[in-house]
Amino acid sequence: MKFYIETYGCQMNVADSEVVTAILQKHGYILVNNIDEAEIILVNTCSIRENAETRVRGRIKVFQQIKKQKQQIKIGVLGCMAERLKDQLLEQEVAVDLVVGPDSYKKLPYIIDNVVSGSKKVETELSKEETYEDILPYRYETNGISAFVSITRGCQNYCSYCIVPYVRGVERSRSPESIINEIRELKNNQYKEVTLIGQNVDSYLYKDISFSQLLKIVAQEFPNIRIRFSTNHPKDMSNSLLEVMATYPNICKHVHLPVQSGSNKMLQLMNRGYTREQYLKLIENIRKNIPDVAISTDIMVGFCDENEDDHRQTLSLMKEVGYDFAFMFKYSERSGTYAAKYLKDNVPEKEKIRRLNEVIALQNELSYKSKQQDVGKTFEVLVEGYSKKSKKQLMGRNSQNKVIVFDVMDNVIFGDFVKVNVESFTSATLIGKMIKS
Ligand code: SF4
Repeated sequence: MKFYIETYGCQMNVADSEVVTAILQKHGYILVNNIDEAEIILVNTCSIRENAETRVRGRIKVFQQIKKQKQQIKIGVLGCMAERLKDQLLEQEVAVDLVVGPDSYKKLPYIIDNVVSGSKKVETELSKEETYEDILPYRYETNGISAFVSITRGCQNYCSYCIVPYVRGVERSRSPESIINEIRELKNNQYKEVTLIGQNVDSYLYKDISFSQLLKIVAQEFPNIRIRFSTNHPKDMSNSLLEVMATYPNICKHVHLPVQSGSNKMLQLMNRGYTREQYLKLIENIRKNIPDVAISTDIMVGFCDENEDDHRQTLSLMKEVGYDFAFMFKYSERSGTYAAKYLKDNVPEKEKIRRLNEVIALQNELSYKSKQQDVGKTFEVLVEGYSKKSKKQLMGRNSQNKVIVFDVMDNVIFGDFVKVNVESFTSATLIGKMIKS
């Protein structure tokens, strides 16, 4: 049977869809890129915000239309929405035939077999052990240069607003051996960059191996592979990690460190486990150890009881840190979380939007400054492809995860490392000239 898979949400979902594809291929299913050829349509979903779920429901309506033309098609919902809504999905969405949560993908071939013979099925049991470390992901949407490698699954930090611990279960770490094997396979296939991913990479722990030790092992084993990682947690990021980052040139100089709010009152209500002062101290420490580091963050406005003063504190913290880039959101309540049960979503929508707009406007200024400071500097860039606008230009990212565009040069191919001098920039991109080596 032919299957088509569509992925929404974070890097973990991308990595999971690659695992799902590998599992199905092993059982004889054939991946197709064209939805019209599919006999099974799978959608891997995200529950982090209301609008993420709304988008998926919109897609299910489209699949339903396809099913009206070809009634034998089966439609499956995977991932966080599957776990969160379980059989509600079968009741609410008539087109859906199977609902499979993030820890049940190994059962997918058998579930599809059952569903094909007429029954509908929900399988959403969370596991304390499953890491899929025995499955080599199939990279179906790849540029052939850069890949995600999952190192942990789940999360048990229980930030009060967050649905992840309820839909992805407790944290589990993969063995270093399985991580090394996966990266070796990527290297043999000419990949040049890996991003080690987990909900909180800093709490990676396999037997007595911590994240900084794992990173050191990977950096030493693959000196010609660029290594990124995401996401860090301010309460867990260690000094030893900073030392390892500073020591190995193949570890990228970029830290994504979600702050969420600059107000201690809000951080406590969010159960983030650090204060504004501790966060700023950590930023100081990161910059002291890695002077050319880029720092990005996540910011949430309009969480329960956030007042104008709390909001101002977020703006002032952003200025103090001077983030290179940021992902910014307004709070949307997720049922089942601590906040939904015990706190009031009491910031009016209009006010949330105003605060979000202020945060975005400030970040635009900070990102502008960050790019302005790069003008005149030379960076090593990993060439990933053509620029979006023209095949006369190439694009890649530097160690700091900033996109740089430059004119095509003879003898430069995708996957090369080249030196580029930055000459100007747009709102999204640095623009430079390659320096002939
Ligand atoms: S660390 Fe907090 S925000 Fe991140 S996934 Fe875990 S609970 Fe959610």
